[in-house]
Amino acid sequence: MTVLHVADLHFQKRWFHWLSASAPQHDLLVIAGDLLDLAQGGCPASQMAWVSDWVRDYPGRLCLCSGDHDLEWDNLAEIWRPAYWLRDLSQPGVWVDGERFDLGGLSFQSIGFSTKPKGGAADVWVVHAPPSHTMVARRRANGCDAGDPELRLGVRKYRPRLVLCGHLHDTYAWRDQQDSIVYLNPGRNDRASFPNHIIWDTAQNAGRRVTDVAAGSIEPDPDQVAAVTAEYTANIAEPEDGCKVLANEAPACGTSARGLCVNTDNPN
Ligand SMILES: [Zn+2]
Ligand SMILES: [Zn+2]
Repeated sequence: MTVLHVADLHFQKRWFHWLSASAPQHDLLVIAGDLLDLAQGGCPASQMAWVSDWVRDYPGRLCLCSGDHDLEWDNLAEIWRPAYWLRDLSQPGVWVDGERFDLGGLSFQSIGFSTKPKGGAADVWVVHAPPSHTMVARRRANGCDAGDPELRLGVRKYRPRLVLCGHLHDTYAWRDQQDSIVYLNPGRNDRASFPNHIIWDTAQNAGRRVTDVAAGSIEPDPDQVAAVTAEYTANIAEPEDGCKVLANEAPACGTSARGLCVNTDNPN
């Protein structure tokens, strides 16, 4: 079975159109959050309506989870609410926040951005922010681990085989593996004509990332990656409880109210 995994579409309509044409040939399309872009201004309701129509018209199987850009602002209470609009899109062959399903001999769990506690007993997680202490959670710009520590705890508890995520647009790596758990994050290139995506063969437990090379490389320098990976690996300590954590403090970075690292210049 092949899964096409994207994330962080941020309401780029051309990328949604590309997915409609290119993704149905795969057994499942996964969109790991940030379908909308609250930073674009305008009325979020119109973005929700457009994406909702797109989901209803999508001709293949589709698993979605909400990201921070998909939440609903409650004017009265002045708080962010879960992405109820996304939950309303659940239908046969379309799975959304909180739903679990079986496909190709694997169980899948969609985990919404505001879900608590985070995690669930399934082989494959679809979740927006990556678990912390993974290479797919580390910003290339400043080395900050912008992953979600709560998800890290969930991974320890439930031990999924595969975690499909997004949120970090520009990371040290699109793939990480720790013990037998694989973490994937396709990243994002604003200039690309199609979205960065990962095609993953679940039987082989292997795959590749595809990016729009003509739009300019987003690949980091291989020597830089090797150096950072070596440093990262050297800094992982194994405390008594068996959980791997970084021995050294992560570089200074902002932390949002939700506990995630944020970069206010380039919100994810
Ligand atoms: Zn995000
Ligand atoms: Zn994003």
